[in-house]
Amino acid sequence: MSEPVQTDVLIVGAGPVGLFLANDCVRRGLRVRLIERHEAQSQHSKALAVFPRTLEIFEMAGLAEPFLEAANRVTGVAFASRERTLGRIAFEPSGTPYRYVAMVPQDVTERILLERLRGRGADVEYGIELTSLREIDGGVEAILERAGARELVTARFAVGCDGAHSTVREALGLEFAGDAYPQQYMLADVMTNDALPADEMQLCPSADGPLAIFPISRTRRRLVAVIDEAEGEAPSLELVNRVLAERVSGGPVAESLVWSSYFRIHHRCVSRMQRGRTFIAGDAAHIHSPFGGQGMNTGLHDAWNLAWKLAFTVRGGAREALLASYTQEREPIVRGVIEATHFLTNALGVRNPIARGFRDAAIPILTHLPALQHGFVDRLSGLGIAYHGSPIVAGSGRRCFDESLRGALGSRFILVAPETRIGSLSREVRERFPDAVEMRASNNAALLVIRPDGYVAYERPSDDSNAVDEIIEILSRQLASDAPVASSPLQRA
Ligand SMILES: Cc1cc2nc3c(=O)[nH]c(=O)nc-3n(C[C@H](O)[C@H](O)[C@H](O)COP(=O)(O)OP(=O)(O)OC[C@H]3O[C@@H](n4cnc5c(N)ncnc54)[C@H](O)[C@@H]3O)c2cc1C
Repeated sequence: MSEPVQTDVLIVGAGPVGLFLANDCVRRGLRVRLIERHEAQSQHSKALAVFPRTLEIFEMAGLAEPFLEAANRVTGVAFASRERTLGRIAFEPSGTPYRYVAMVPQDVTERILLERLRGRGADVEYGIELTSLREIDGGVEAILERAGARELVTARFAVGCDGAHSTVREALGLEFAGDAYPQQYMLADVMTNDALPADEMQLCPSADGPLAIFPISRTRRRLVAVIDEAEGEAPSLELVNRVLAERVSGGPVAESLVWSSYFRIHHRCVSRMQRGRTFIAGDAAHIHSPFGGQGMNTGLHDAWNLAWKLAFTVRGGAREALLASYTQEREPIVRGVIEATHFLTNALGVRNPIARGFRDAAIPILTHLPALQHGFVDRLSGLGIAYHGSPIVAGSGRRCFDESLRGALGSRFILVAPETRIGSLSREVRERFPDAVEMRASNNAALLVIRPDGYVAYERPSDDSNAVDEIIEILSRQLASDAPVASSPLQRA
């Protein structure tokens, strides 16, 4: 390319995923353009549940506080029928400071992310639509349109965070394989009496179709339900109260409607999330059932996985394998989320009376099994996500988030080792990667290499005699020698 690129990363779409990616890229010192076809942020509260791993990620990204202030904290899930509560699972995962689901309406999430982005000196460019995109030598070239006027933009990388009908995905020629659910869904945000606890979600597997109730506050609830047929343009208060009366015990009554809508859902995903210098993230790459509340969380995790890899690459410190690992790591996680939400949706929606009878008899037993409780919480919370099998990881690829690392993760890999081994490891590893790896002494008997996104790239007992060679090998797969890091510290604001 003869002209220098105008920006490092062109991000298309200012939903939660684009806003978060822009925040993290700017924090990592990248030049970003974030464009949005609408003239302002959406006022709809769509996604609500922010799960513990997402809160950990927000903390690492310097964003957790406003979410904690805005959140209604939920610490349990009840499975309820019209007659009774069938079972309860405590949602209080151990090993994290965030032992709850933070209920934050999506419009609030977007407002927080936008304010933080502005605080970091960047902004969304509204009313601008990407119409085409192509790869050029050393970057991408995009055509943007605003009120009929066209602009040609070049960037080193482009990321489509442009939702389920993604233009970027189309430009890459990626199939969005999957299927539509046949059911009709309704959503309603309502003000209710306080018959249901504010710190518990209800999942109601009813004969009329499943209903999920999410507490936004003591008297505000989000209802998502399968219904037989839409009645009118949008669900009425009368329909909402009928659904509540037919499907849940405990006497909740909706007193007024804040927002309501009908929708249909699909489960779809792409087989790759990158082509050349262009990536897709969030709903552009995967959509699934809202039972489980995983959609936005999964998209935010995509952005978190990608941002540090883009930063290393832009600085000239990465091998191609680092960016290629984005699809390799995220695609299996996304498929797992689609499978789990598909299972939950089908299990809650069983209509056959015999199968329903079995399910309702099994719930009280299953919800008492510690293994099932743990598996359910581990999956929904996002704390169980691990990148084992990734070509740039040796071992479990588990998350690492403990007190000693709080505030430490950011632009470098961290090599954690016992005091006695720090000296020799530091000499040998930092000789190869002087800027990209930081050393930390610990009392633990393990050797750990932790990535900038808080996942473990390497883990062995500290007396393993091959450790130095193996650490250098795993880092060499993804980093160029002398990989530089940002010249200035990460922005924490
Ligand atoms: C009713 C409902 C309830 C939900 N509940 C939950 C929940 O509880 N928990 C959860 O995690 N998820 C939930 N979700 C899913 C969640 O809302 C989505 O996963 C989330 O919005 C995806 O964010 P995104 O940024 O990827 O895409 P979007 O939010 O769709 O944002 C994409 C943006 O890109 C813009 N855009 C599109 N094309 C272009 C273009 N060519 N040029 C410029 N801009 C463009 C769009 O205008 C839009 O603003 C729910 C969804 C729905 C519909």
